[in-house]
Amino acid sequence: MKFYKNADLSRHSTMRLGGKAAYLVNITDKTDIPFALSWAAEQKIPAMMIGSGSNIVWSDAGYSGLVMVNKIKGFTIRECDETTSYVDIGAGENWDSAVARTVKKGLSGIEALSLIPGTTGATPVQNVGAYGQEISDTLDSIEAYDAKTKKIVTIPAESCQFGYRTSRFKEVDHGRFFITSLRFLLTKEAPSPPFYAALQTYLDHMNIKDPSVQTIREVVIAIRSSKLPNPAKIANNGSFFGNPIIAKTTFKKLQKAYPHIPGWPTNDGRVKISAAWLIEAAGFKNFHDRKTGMATWHKQPLVLVNEKAECTADLILFRDRIIGEVQAKFKITLQQEPELI
Ligand SMILES: Cc1cc2nc3c(=O)[nH]c(=O)nc-3n(C[C@H](O)[C@H](O)[C@H](O)COP(=O)(O)OP(=O)(O)OC[C@H]3O[C@@H](n4cnc5c(N)ncnc54)[C@H](O)[C@@H]3O)c2cc1C
Repeated sequence: MKFYKNADLSRHSTMRLGGKAAYLVNITDKTDIPFALSWAAEQKIPAMMIGSGSNIVWSDAGYSGLVMVNKIKGFTIRECDETTSYVDIGAGENWDSAVARTVKKGLSGIEALSLIPGTTGATPVQNVGAYGQEISDTLDSIEAYDAKTKKIVTIPAESCQFGYRTSRFKEVDHGRFFITSLRFLLTKEAPSPPFYAALQTYLDHMNIKDPSVQTIREVVIAIRSSKLPNPAKIANNGSFFGNPIIAKTTFKKLQKAYPHIPGWPTNDGRVKISAAWLIEAAGFKNFHDRKTGMATWHKQPLVLVNEKAECTADLILFRDRIIGEVQAKFKITLQQEPELI
């Protein structure tokens, strides 16, 4: 194992900003993890695991510990019964390539999560979801190294405390588990309606009746590519803010002043409102900020794009300006989605 000193972290975030890591190591096998952790303990520095940095913003100060980049490979399919199969995927596998491989085998359950950037091992952390699917819907279990018990453990999906874009790995057990592989239980049956509204609209438009799993993947890729910037070409972290959830009474007041404000009722009687709408209404539609080199993406203002920012402080300045204007206009505080480290 090679420990790289003063590693440039901007290469490990799709926003392409941030300082240096004291040390960085690539993890290619689960047995590397205890070794790397003991090494970090000997140096008296913290350690953390990352995938491809599509949900991370590194601070300009960097990370004064050991960054472990998960590159553990693996992909196997095992039949469970006539209609279902288990799929084991190494945590370091590129997520979209893994989805493509399951779709190619005619397996359904994660096809709507096509084209989400990042590694497979990161998907449980925020219970990755899109177009009506979340990984918690079909995840069977997770294999991880538990830094507390110093053992490789299997965690059943029902013990992961999954919620909307959250899990125990993001909350109570943040930093405890180093995920090594995921097991999904996928079905050989074709996807069946009801489909997510945006998917159904596209299918109707193309006059597609009984879509195959491959068709759903293609439709999702077409919709996502038409709306979101490709992080390989344009530096960004996807949605930079979460959709705020507010009290029904607050929503009604807002509706009086802004009759077109979109809102969706949540199960707990509150209302989820569109952060993109708030940002646009606060004056940040296709907004290019000369001072910071940051911009909002012209097709989706929720996506902040690094056009020529020089450092994370520029991004933070731009982020705070948006938060401030939205707060001043609507009395709502936007919350950042990607993790700032
Ligand atoms: C253009 C774009 C579109 C996006 N669209 C969506 C979307 O539709 N839905 C959605 O949910 N997300 C979306 N995202 C966010 C992002 O793709 C996901 O959060 C993804 O799972 C992050 O993967 P990663 O490998 O880059 O993780 P990283 O950014 O490297 O890490 C994210 C977090 O997970 C932890 N982590 C990573 N790997 C491991 C591991 N093996 N074990 C333990 N902890 C680990 C890290 O410490 C960190 O806390 C989008 C991002 C972009 C840039």
